[in-house]
Amino acid sequence: MGNKCCSRRHDPDRPLVYPAYKNEAGFTACPSSLETRYTGEPNTRVLSRPPADIVRTRNPGKCITNGGRRVVKALCAYTARADSDISFRKGDRMEVLSDAEPDWWRVLHLTTRREGLVPVNFVAEESSVECEEPSSCCSWFFPHVSRKEADKLLLAESNPRGTFLVRPAEHNPHGFSLSVKDWEEGRGYHVKHYKIKPLDNGGFYIATNQTFPSLPALVMSYTKNALGLCHVLARPCPKPEPQMWDLGPELRDKWEIPRSEIQLIRKLGQGNFGEVYYGKWRNNIEVAVKTLREGTMSTQAFLQEAAIMKKFRHKRLVALYAVCSTQEPVYIVQEYMSKGSLLEFLRNGEGKFLQFEDLVYVAAQVASGMEYLESKMLIHRDLAARNVLIGENNVAKICDFGLARVIEDNEYCPKQGSRFPVKWTAPEAIIYGRFSIKSDVWSYGILLMELFTYGQIPYPGLHGKDVIEQVERGYRMPKPVGHYLPDDIYRLMLQCWDAIPEKRPTFEFLNHYFESFTVTSEIPYREVQD
Ligand code: ADP
Repeated sequence: MGNKCCSRRHDPDRPLVYPAYKNEAGFTACPSSLETRYTGEPNTRVLSRPPADIVRTRNPGKCITNGGRRVVKALCAYTARADSDISFRKGDRMEVLSDAEPDWWRVLHLTTRREGLVPVNFVAEESSVECEEPSSCCSWFFPHVSRKEADKLLLAESNPRGTFLVRPAEHNPHGFSLSVKDWEEGRGYHVKHYKIKPLDNGGFYIATNQTFPSLPALVMSYTKNALGLCHVLARPCPKPEPQMWDLGPELRDKWEIPRSEIQLIRKLGQGNFGEVYYGKWRNNIEVAVKTLREGTMSTQAFLQEAAIMKKFRHKRLVALYAVCSTQEPVYIVQEYMSKGSLLEFLRNGEGKFLQFEDLVYVAAQVASGMEYLESKMLIHRDLAARNVLIGENNVAKICDFGLARVIEDNEYCPKQGSRFPVKWTAPEAIIYGRFSIKSDVWSYGILLMELFTYGQIPYPGLHGKDVIEQVERGYRMPKPVGHYLPDDIYRLMLQCWDAIPEKRPTFEFLNHYFESFTVTSEIPYREVQD
């Protein structure tokens, strides 16, 4: 691909980076092999530890005792999208006939007696009385939810005081946390988090004087009596709809789709390479469609890249569903994010009214998506508020990772391209083309500044050319005036902008930092007895 793979057409206010890859030996600007970028299994989901339901799914004989059958229960309703899948309602029971596919299982619906595929993350193994650990079928168990997400879910207005959930503890591989919505005079609604500790004999406790043989038993007990908790457990938190990774079962591996299946409904925005539309797939499923102007990239190179992007899945990365690449303009069909780009959201949308905690929540989500890319040794190369999309409830997801590689445009080279995103790019990447996950960390620091200043242009008043010179001489963006930014977070930004890439924090650290930023309410068991 030569220099071409480092080039991209762009407008000056929406700068882009040029591609580079990390391998074990170091970093190169334009790799010849895609394989250098990835390690690990492509479909691996990133979990701090396998939550109970996953452990159980992998050891079905251990807990599922419905007469030797594996029975799953629907977590929410699903409407069939093709001939091969079946519809179901929340709570429906289905027998698993085959779990050979990672995302779609073949089941027999135990009421309708229909056989077909179901999306795995819409169902969970049915709890059985012998189970000592909860499954996602326990309405109160949230196996993939972090502390910050628990706060967000519980604080939804419709949830009364006492709404609760249980989630795996973030820092104790055998423990769990109980998160409860509470209300206090002068403090209003907030969430309290209690540590649930395991006992050596397999039971659990929050307070040492109250131990329980299982988590369900513990939860049941606290639903009857607060026993020192802030409030009796009133009702399980409603679960958000699970993420779909494919448009339908027949598109799990085949994702070139006929253009006629896509209906473009309204224009969402103007991208660098074409328009972006809100649309529907088969007049049914909401999607965002990026259209690529002719000549923007080689279709072959794009398809190669898209095939890889499709394998990377994380709840903080925008899902790539499908492409229509047999004619121009090429369509990239993605998950639809209702609030658009973070930058627009902060400047002109509802984001203008976000509270400080919400900004921290967005920072944590972006760090979480980047931690996933870091674990896969994938470099984004264009991390900025314009490349983060926002959905309902301030959900943030990173988009456009991997696309920069295949753009063919001479304006996209740091040395000559006038549209290079100088203000977002680490000096070693601008000067030597050394892009790495650490240059992404630099960009993340800039993104933090965009976030905490509600979309202000970085280095206000400075031109890109001057920024390179000044930054090389050690200048860094000062703490913003007129915006609330705690010193700790500003210090963290400065660490992201350390001149020595290795000294910058990891995304794992950054995620942990923002996830636990407001740690004031994790209550050790002693206090529960007070
Ligand atoms: P490009 O990367 O080609 O410049 P963008 O990804 O920036 O294009 O898209 C332009 C605009 O379209 C964004 O600012 C955003 O408002 C909207 N958009 C892009 N992707 C989505 C999506 N998946 N869901 C909702 N809106 C989107």
